[in-house]
Parts: sequence; structure tokens; C-alpha cells
Amino acid sequence: MTMELAEAEKILGVGSDYSIKHTLQCFDVAHWTKQENELLEEAKIVISARNTIMQHLVCEQKRKYRFFTIESPFENTCNHCKGAGEIYKFIKKTVDVNCHICGKKGIIKDDCPTCKGSGRFIKKWKTGGGVNLECKRCKGQKKIQVKCVNCLGEGTVKKAVLTHTLKSTTSCKKCNQLGYLPNKLTSKPKAKRPHKKAKRPSSKKVPFTPIMSQSLADKIKRDIEAQ
Ligand SMILES: [Zn+2]
Ligand SMILES: [Zn+2]
Ligand SMILES: [Zn+2]
Repeated sequence: MTMELAEAEKILGVGSDYSIKHTLQCFDVAHWTKQENELLEEAKIVISARNTIMQHLVCEQKRKYRFFTIESPFENTCNHCKGAGEIYKFIKKTVDVNCHICGKKGIIKDDCPTCKGSGRFIKKWKTGGGVNLECKRCKGQKKIQVKCVNCLGEGTVKKAVLTHTLKSTTSCKKCNQLGYLPNKLTSKPKAKRPHKKAKRPSSKKVPFTPIMSQSLADKIKRDIEAQ
């Protein structure tokens, strides 16, 4: 189902300035209202409106930043669609990018194959012995310039990149296009929480010291005697 952006905005009531998060929040409220009133056909229209706006916002982000992020307001966000309710596929295109091996030059320096990177070669005499000469090919430089093997001398290579144009969208089956998972689907046996016990009063015992008791007893004794 395709819908005009302005119409979708009206259905969700997102106003003139909105973000992905805001759209999802508005969708949540609108969808919940339709469901509560058992207006199932209208709930579908709400989903369609959300899709229209989300596609627009996602493509806009992709065009600006080359990637998109969905800030989901849902607690049980569906991991499969990241809360969008749909899975997006973008059109790929091939672009020429600079070769990272030769840095766009198309040529690289490599060991001279004639002298095997030594810069010299030994010319042997038939009569025995020989002479150590400078390599004629590299002129003793050991390296020669060769065609870059990565770009075949072109300086650029083809790379497939995703454009900001949607190729297709698929309804997320995991969350039934909602963007979040209903509680019953996610309810796992809750991890046992450490039982919060009321802190017991400190059981530290005051060491019984005979000296102290003695002195106390003595004191009492003295007090009685003094009376
Ligand atoms: Zn989903
Ligand atoms: Zn050489
Ligand atoms: Zn290259």
C-alpha cells in the first residue's frame, strides 16, 4: 500500500517536524487506539502510514550520512527490524574508488625482476671470472615501476555501494510489523534476583573481658561500700 507522505503524517499526527523516534511513538499511540476499539482495518492503515514516514526518514538519513539509525522508543524492540516494523533493502550501485594499493597512480614500485632487486648483475667471461655491473633495467635502483596489480593500471577500482534508494521493503514477521514484541512473546523465566534480606543487626559480639567485668564489679562493690 502506498500513501502520500502528507496523508501519512496526518494519520499519525506527527506534525511538521519529527524524527524516527517521534514517529514510532505516534504510531504506538495511534495503533493502540485502533486495536483497543477493534478497528482492525484502521490499524492496518496506521501501519501503512508509519511505513511511509519511516521509509522517508530512513532514506533521508541514508542520503545525508550514508547509514541510518533507528532510535526505538519501545521497551521490547524487535531485534529483527530494529523497531521499524519493516526490513529495508537498498539499491546497490558500482562506483569508481581510488585504488588503495597505488594511490590512484596506476603504477607501483616493485623489485626489479632482472637483477632480483639487487641492482647489480655479474657478467661472466667465457674464459672464467667476470665483472659486477650495474643492472641496466633498473639502473642500479633495485626497483622498477610496474603496473599496479590491484587496479591493473587504472588507478581506480569498482566498488559496490548501497544507495539511499529503497529497492524493497519486507514486513517484519517476527514482530508482526509492530516494531516491538508483545510481552507474552518475550516473557522468559526471570533470572533469579538475589533475595533482598533485611540487614540483620550486626552480630558482632563484644568480647567478654574478665578485666572489664572485674573492674565493673569492683566499681559496684566500691559504690555499695561507699554508701
Ligand atoms: Zn520486527
Ligand atoms: Zn635491476
Ligand atoms: Zn592500483
